[in-house]
Amino acid sequence: MSNDKLDVLRTELDEVNLKLLETINERARLVQEIGKVKSTQGVNRFDPVRERSMLDHIAANNKGPFETSTLQHLFKQIFKASLELQEEDNSKALLVSRKKHPENTVVDLKGVMMGDGQQRLVMGPCAVESYEQVLTVAKALKERGIKLLRGGAFKPRTSPYDFQGLGLEGLKILKQVADELDMVVISEIVNPSDIETAVEYLDVIQIGARNMQNFELLKAAGAVDKPVLLKRGLSATIQEFIHAAEYIVAKGNSNLMLCERGIRTYETATRNTLDISAVPILKQETHLPVLVDVTHSTGRRDLLLPTAKAALAIGADAVMAEVHPDPAVALSDSAQQMDIPQFNKFIDDLQASGLYKA
Ligand code: PEP
Ligand code: MN
Repeated sequence: MSNDKLDVLRTELDEVNLKLLETINERARLVQEIGKVKSTQGVNRFDPVRERSMLDHIAANNKGPFETSTLQHLFKQIFKASLELQEEDNSKALLVSRKKHPENTVVDLKGVMMGDGQQRLVMGPCAVESYEQVLTVAKALKERGIKLLRGGAFKPRTSPYDFQGLGLEGLKILKQVADELDMVVISEIVNPSDIETAVEYLDVIQIGARNMQNFELLKAAGAVDKPVLLKRGLSATIQEFIHAAEYIVAKGNSNLMLCERGIRTYETATRNTLDISAVPILKQETHLPVLVDVTHSTGRRDLLLPTAKAALAIGADAVMAEVHPDPAVALSDSAQQMDIPQFNKFIDDLQASGLYKA
């Protein structure tokens, strides 16, 4: 074959490539249109019956030289890319996404601006046990400049025979201490019907890992004017976590913070596996502040400091950890809470590392 002939064929091939490019993008635009119609109708985007009929149509019209199986394989790839395109369009529309809202959301917690670039600590006992217990911890926090006080009043426990929390009484204790020391209270709510009463006592509604997909609770928290801290589910993917967050914002409450708290894996050396890369992913994909709970993710006191450092280094807006005056007798999570001297050492070490600036 002369070089001239080869050049002509190559030019033709380039033209066909451009035609294919145009056709494939024309197909993509149609797919996007179909995606929009399906999303308004609430119809599932993947339709195997339709895919099968398209593949059959291609087989019936194939005149070669490609084998039908080869073509079907190629078209499957195009179908897959199209489905991904529809999914991308869908995530573009999420209210929690950066695409929708490029600026960081800063949540005002009674003057403490979560997400403003300053990294903070959220600390307190696992569960509220008594006024004296909360007061002792709160005073220690206050002395180290920490205003964000956590404590569980409604405890979602694995066993029904374990301490379930003091309930409303616990919220009243938290409020009393917060009022006395000018602190901000974060506490978990497990029942949608408790929200209305609870908002009078707490400053942040926590939705715990076990309730991340309690959609009625998410909707109820989204319907009130109170900041929410949503924790990642025990086995939730980041995509599921983001969609759970969307439930809250879609109901009108955009004062939302996310918390990575470890996920369940095959690893048994820690209580959960801290998914540290979830922090930059969540910060890229959403505009919400992201916290890291080092207590529940590790379940180990010796890992609180190194994981807190990792969380700050990777850009978390805050680190959460549990502090109890006497962890040995704590009614929940006794193996992993810090006592007051350990807490003070934790803060000293974090400050000495240069990672914690407060
Ligand atoms: C908690 O923070 O008190 C708690 C129970 O954590 P999680 O929901 O992450 O297990
Ligand atoms: Mn706990």
